[in-house]
Amino acid sequence: MAFIRYERLLTREVRIGALRVGAGNPIRIQTMTTTDTMDTEATVAQTIRCIEAGAELVRITAPSKKEAENLRAIRDAVRAAGYDTPLVADIHFTPNAAEIAAGIVEKVRINPGNYVDKKKFDQIDYTDEEYQGEIERIRDRFTPLLRICKEHGTAMRIGTNHGSLSDRIMSRYGDTPRGMVESAMEFLRIARDENYHQIVLSMKSSNPQVMVQAYRLLVRQMQEEFGECYPLHLGVTEAGDGEDGRIKSGIGIGTLLEEGIGDTIRVSLTEDPECELPVCKDIVDRYVAQAGNGSPLSIPVLPYDPLSYRRRETEEILRIGGHQPPVVIVDLMHEAAITPQTLKSIGYDYDPQTDKWFIGDAAADWLFTGKRRIDFALPGTLSVICDAETWKQDPLQERHYPFYTASQFLAENPKTARGLRFVALDASAENAEQTALAISEYAEAALCLYAEKAPVLPALRGVFVALMNAGKKIPVIIGIQSYSNTIDKQLIDFSIEAGALLLDGMGDGVWLMNEPDNLRNEATIGRRYLSVDNNLQFLNNTSFSILQATRTRISKTEYISCPSCGRTLFDLQETTTRIRNATSHLKGVKIAIMGCIVNGPGEMADADFGYVGSGPGKITLYQGKDVVKRNVPSEIAVDELINLLKEAGVWTEPRAVLQEL
Ligand code: SF4
Repeated sequence: MAFIRYERLLTREVRIGALRVGAGNPIRIQTMTTTDTMDTEATVAQTIRCIEAGAELVRITAPSKKEAENLRAIRDAVRAAGYDTPLVADIHFTPNAAEIAAGIVEKVRINPGNYVDKKKFDQIDYTDEEYQGEIERIRDRFTPLLRICKEHGTAMRIGTNHGSLSDRIMSRYGDTPRGMVESAMEFLRIARDENYHQIVLSMKSSNPQVMVQAYRLLVRQMQEEFGECYPLHLGVTEAGDGEDGRIKSGIGIGTLLEEGIGDTIRVSLTEDPECELPVCKDIVDRYVAQAGNGSPLSIPVLPYDPLSYRRRETEEILRIGGHQPPVVIVDLMHEAAITPQTLKSIGYDYDPQTDKWFIGDAAADWLFTGKRRIDFALPGTLSVICDAETWKQDPLQERHYPFYTASQFLAENPKTARGLRFVALDASAENAEQTALAISEYAEAALCLYAEKAPVLPALRGVFVALMNAGKKIPVIIGIQSYSNTIDKQLIDFSIEAGALLLDGMGDGVWLMNEPDNLRNEATIGRRYLSVDNNLQFLNNTSFSILQATRTRISKTEYISCPSCGRTLFDLQETTTRIRNATSHLKGVKIAIMGCIVNGPGEMADADFGYVGSGPGKITLYQGKDVVKRNVPSEIAVDELINLLKEAGVWTEPRAVLQEL
């Protein structure tokens, strides 16, 4: 049962040059260049930087025949520099370029959404016969590539993207994980008919929930149809940059790796490609000790459907559980003193001049104070959890609630006591599931579930499964501890362990715990984007970002920005920062920033607004899938985007983000 204990999915072994992927080989890490493929020198230099940063595969875009031809010069220069890392040609729309590249590099990636089909957002009604005719058209166009790959020993990735499903697939299966799986399976069946098996598959989306469901469904489909699985390459597309990009990728990729699914990964960030490799390593390192036990994955009978989202049903107690969005609990254990100023880091700004509080959109709901109480008036509905013994000194103090260990709680047997009680339970302890069921007998208790021993996620999931099987509706707070020694690693631990449960509808709150001294002592502090001078802010922001990435609680603007590649028409990193600075207060608005008009509009999936490079120095602005302003000069394009947001009625002035209480 891969969902409640770790087992790696056994896949076929694929050779990519000298590299072996799948079948229990280590999980491989990769990235993609962002240089112009016709600029041989720049592409070679960037490829080598990526290899030195740890890339085991490097992908290079080949939008047309001339770039495909130039892969030869790039390959020769990389080999001449002493690197034998396999190169991958990235193909969209151009079978001719794929057929050239397949004779030059070790692997070709095709996108089944646009290899033969086109996307114009048309709804097309096919009879079964017409649909089969389309499959035969794909077979005719795809078979020559398969034969070239066989002849040269070239591997292939059939890489489906949620955002670029063809009109044909969308018309029949909709914009769904099922459509993504079928899109790849149509090509895979043709490849198997040709007896070609050097195939890796991917199911990427910018929404981790869609991505996770698509991979799970693909595994099930391959097992049912072929009785075997091909290796899987994991990634979240257009994840963005900084913490958000890392969190989204950690949740999507990590959820699947925890289940044993995944043979290679890429973390797509709107940053230099070398920056992606340390994040890949942080993720993959979690599984090194567990790699390759070779047990085939079986999706077990679970009390929930891993292929569709449904929140676990719970009783609401004091705004926790039921239909309330998951709450955020911030741990103040490491704070020397707790004053109104302490709360500034977690969304509450106190103005002593006017004696007023202002609250941000990402303001914590609860504080954990251990043996201390709060001796000033708390803002809004912010409430305090303190140790039961501390609470008992004044049980009537406003908005203070007790925190028990499981054994203390059950020993006191407070069956008749009224009022919310928080009960901590170590999911990795012996008999944790029975203890959880015993605690759930009490009204007005909320379980704070954590795991002292690794593996954390299977232990937590096991308790959730036990509660669901017994029909227990006690709210559960997910408690995640990370004592990793860098902020990057802590971010990954939190994202994977909390995010994987939230994606499956489990959890009525998150409570992240760490050791801030681990961060302060670590040399990587100050790495771009990820410096921590305020641990409370780190914990609070990470909690809200995990909830946002799992779409369980929206508290800020969402950015869908492509990682850029050789097609990119403007400085994506700089533009993303400018757009973020101007719009980061627009809670719930999804803005896509895409480097090119060829793939951008399709890939931005469910964004509300799009900023897309349409020519050198030219930007086209979208509202949903509709072009609103075409070929705007890039110098004024961010201002024009703001005008568009105003016209659409979603703009607010930045100051309005702090609401007076
Ligand atoms: S959307 Fe971005 S990453 Fe994708 S092809 Fe265009 S420029 Fe490259």
